[in-house]
Amino acid sequence: MNFNSHTDGVVRVAVALVNELTPGERRGRPFPAPADVAAAATAGLRAVRPAYREVGADEGAELAAVAARLRAVFAAVADGDVDGAAERVNALLAETQARPLLERHDGEPWHLHFHGSRGTTAGDWAASCATGLAIVLGGEFHDRLGVCTAPSCDRVYVDVSRNGTRRFCSTACQNRVKTAAFRARARAE
Ligand SMILES: [Zn+2]
Repeated sequence: MNFNSHTDGVVRVAVALVNELTPGERRGRPFPAPADVAAAATAGLRAVRPAYREVGADEGAELAAVAARLRAVFAAVADGDVDGAAERVNALLAETQARPLLERHDGEPWHLHFHGSRGTTAGDWAASCATGLAIVLGGEFHDRLGVCTAPSCDRVYVDVSRNGTRRFCSTACQNRVKTAAFRARARAE
């Protein structure tokens, strides 16, 4: 399933920034706030855009703040609070003054980017991610943002499966839950 390629890309960036930069739990283990936010932010951006430049420490800290705001959107949708998610996205769109701009670079055809008003990397990504999430929330597939339902994991995901049945951040978590269920059945027998 595709929203459109650019929307998919920025929504995947939102997922990666939340998962790399916000503390919580990951695949059964505590996930502390990253000690090196620049490296974590760079890893998040490169998860989707492999050639992306290394971001600086200040940019990393700003992106971590953006990631915390984005996490709240995923959490609201996972709790069934689409109204709350929409309010949070609208607040980000207003703050970043996200504005559309057609761009053509790296041999790609013209495509729509969204920039923030401040001319900063974090501001641009905040505007892009907020716009991507707005397109998801404003469409038929508004419930496709999620938080992993495996025990001791709160990493987020976007469900692009045809049936919309995804529940886990990763196959690692899916397998943890399957194995636990298998063991529980074995013990019961
Ligand atoms: Zn998980």
